[in-house]
Amino acid sequence: MSKLIVKKFGGTSVADSVRIEAVADIVEQTVKEGNKVTVVLSAMGNNTDELIKLAKEINPEPDLREYDALVSTGEQVSVALLAMALLKRGIKGKSYTAYQLGIKTNSSHSRARILDVEVNKITKELAEGFVPVITGFQGMNDRGDITTLGRGGSDTTGVALAVALKADECQIYTDVDGVFTTDPRVYDKAKLLENISFEEMLELSSMGAKVLQLRAVEYASKFNMPIRVLSSFSESKGTLVQEENNIMERPIVSGISSIDTEAKLTVRGVPDIPGVAAKILGPISDAGIDVDVIVQNIGADNTTDFTFTIDQSDLSRAEKILQDTSSSLEGGQLEVDADIAKISIVGRGMRANAGVASKMFQALADNEINISMITTSEIKISVVIKKGEMKAAIKALHDAFDLDKELDS
Ligand code: ADP
Ligand code: ASP
Ligand code: MG
Repeated sequence: MSKLIVKKFGGTSVADSVRIEAVADIVEQTVKEGNKVTVVLSAMGNNTDELIKLAKEINPEPDLREYDALVSTGEQVSVALLAMALLKRGIKGKSYTAYQLGIKTNSSHSRARILDVEVNKITKELAEGFVPVITGFQGMNDRGDITTLGRGGSDTTGVALAVALKADECQIYTDVDGVFTTDPRVYDKAKLLENISFEEMLELSSMGAKVLQLRAVEYASKFNMPIRVLSSFSESKGTLVQEENNIMERPIVSGISSIDTEAKLTVRGVPDIPGVAAKILGPISDAGIDVDVIVQNIGADNTTDFTFTIDQSDLSRAEKILQDTSSSLEGGQLEVDADIAKISIVGRGMRANAGVASKMFQALADNEINISMITTSEIKISVVIKKGEMKAAIKALHDAFDLDKELDS
């Protein structure tokens, strides 16, 4: 039966002309099987990194409208090349920028959100036998300025188009076989997952598994659009990210994520009185800085140490803000530690199983890994540890929860 399929390919999948030809082969095969295909592409290889580096050579804090104008160019190159490769195969490939199609976003340059996807033009092209090849990662705001969707944002373009087109399938092609129990580049015992629920994938993505951008999973979950993550380098069936009800197995822990790009800030010796947390974090959030793990320790002398983590890219701004807050609170000194990593274990099965946290802490203790902060949610436990111990921690937890083994049915 003929299907409408959205296929998104990431940077490694289109890194050079050989890879672009390989992607054209995949698209050709799907079209020849009688399907209608819309393609979404990332920029080639590390092109986006290089463009960002260039921008920062001019100004470490570049104007964000111009930043978006610059970094959106990478995708324009890859879509035109793929359209050429398809045309060479006798397939009516046709490149489009998000701008040409009117993919509308808000105005938060460099991390814009998609508001609306106009699909009339694409639907018409599909009906006429074209294969639209669309730039991922970008859109336009209501002033007609180009915006970008944040790193990894082509995933979100892929999902948003699949939703708007009411596609039968949304396929995200990457450089690994699908979603694994942990990053397969970090631990070679990582196991490919056949299925994972939206809820678990949301936690894994938000805790550092960059295989799918968090917003793409949020979008897919909101509109109940299953995503198949698969490799453009192999024939693997990949992983289906879908509604929990459709998945039978309930492992206690489904996967492990890690982030090592955060920094920990501690304000020592602030008075232990109501409103202190709000006074410290208010100005931070007013500055648009996202705060992650928060811990407050009460000392014996009616003072408290207040600690939280943020992304390292926000560190210098946060330090300046905290210096002011801390003196107005008559607090003690500010300590900064960027030598940290956060490891999270995620699983639906945690809801029904006590003792998951203690097993996690014991596995880390057995490996002499010290925990400096802990947070939990219903299906996730995160710990902050030293950066140098990140890989050892992932391996210890993967082994402790037997993630390399088949599930008992
Ligand atoms: P693309 O360029 O295709 O968008 P990304 O680099 O954004 O690819 O994401 C794919 C990468 O995500 C993999 O190469 C892998 O190293 C990393 N990754 C992190 N966690 C996981 C996980 N749990 N499963 C699969 N890949 C993961
Ligand atoms: N090219 C963009 C990036 O590198 C978008 C993406 O890859 O999804 O972040
Ligand atoms: Mg990506």
